[in-house]
Amino acid sequence: MEEPVSKPKAWIISVGNELLIGRTINTNAAWLGRKLTFLGFEVERIVTVPDSIDDIAEEVSRALGRAKVVVTTGGLGPTYDDVTLEGVAKALGLPLEVNSEALDMVKRFYEAKGLELTEHRVKMARLPRGAKALPNPVGAAPGSLVEAGGSVVISLPGVPSEMKAMFEEHVEPYIKRLAPRLQVVECSVRIVGVPESSLAPIIEKAYKLSPRVYLKSHPEGYETGNPVVTVKALASSHTREAAESEAKKVLEYIVRGARELGASISQEGCS
Ligand code: ATP
Ligand code: MG
Repeated sequence: MEEPVSKPKAWIISVGNELLIGRTINTNAAWLGRKLTFLGFEVERIVTVPDSIDDIAEEVSRALGRAKVVVTTGGLGPTYDDVTLEGVAKALGLPLEVNSEALDMVKRFYEAKGLELTEHRVKMARLPRGAKALPNPVGAAPGSLVEAGGSVVISLPGVPSEMKAMFEEHVEPYIKRLAPRLQVVECSVRIVGVPESSLAPIIEKAYKLSPRVYLKSHPEGYETGNPVVTVKALASSHTREAAESEAKKVLEYIVRGARELGASISQEGCS
């Protein structure tokens, strides 16, 4: 049997009162969780905190030393409640100061629109000392990347289009070298006509077949009646072929067991 693979840990810290009161759905965390997983990290925590310097600092401090990569989203803008970088700086024991590269980015953004640099706009260029400013191709607020004590703390804006563009253009190339060269593959099968509780013992045995597979059943509809259960296997290995074959080995075991119980199966393939 293949050995389990060890992956560097990642934490996602989502900042924003609007997330906690349920006004905004945390799509950023889901998107980042998937991205980081497929880059070969083990996402160990997704934590949501209010727009409060102390709460942000508390979670960033907890992540330091445990996570290789810490990504925060939200709270980089010009308003009074945008305090993420103050929280990050506090956790790192660094002062916040105007970063000249970030200031250039903010200046260029507003100059192109014929707007003055105001105090609130300059605020967006205040980063923890020593941070690298990350250009924002969509909006005004630059991101921040700081290396400290074995971790890299990356802060991205809350607006999903800005966050995604910055992650793909600037963060992904930077953090790729921190992850092992792993290929992560997800395969799934859809099982119709057998309740999840009948599949449970089969899934339990299948799970033990490979330490490189994360197996999860996703029931839809009703437990009895016409139950539908999609089973997903996420496998990591050094080549895509090896990852895919681990995932398929586990799913094939489940398919055989489910067929014996009278299920009909549709294979959904791998991505
Ligand atoms: P800006 O620089 O545009 O002010 P910001 O970094 O200050 O961005 P926020 O003020 O926290 O970001 O949020 C901006 C917008 O992005 C809000 O409409 C908010 O609801 C949305 N948003 C924030 N966090 C998330 C998230 N985790 N998932 C989805 N949307 C989010
Ligand atoms: Mg804002």
